[in-house]
Amino acid sequence: MARKTTKPRTTPCEPCKGTGEVPRTVRVGRRHRPVGQQVGICLNCLGAGEIPADH
Ligand SMILES: [Zn+2]
Repeated sequence: MARKTTKPRTTPCEPCKGTGEVPRTVRVGRRHRPVGQQVGICLNCLGAGEIPADH
């Protein structure tokens, strides 16, 4: 098969701005008291920083 390999078309992830990480509020205790912010993995791109453009 002489099929061209298509370039992976991706677009930068918006929530994390391509970093793959997003700041998230850390909550503890039963009352979910916010104690600060922590960097967590971006759930939109799962840490990849970019998402497939065809999705
Ligand atoms: Zn992301």
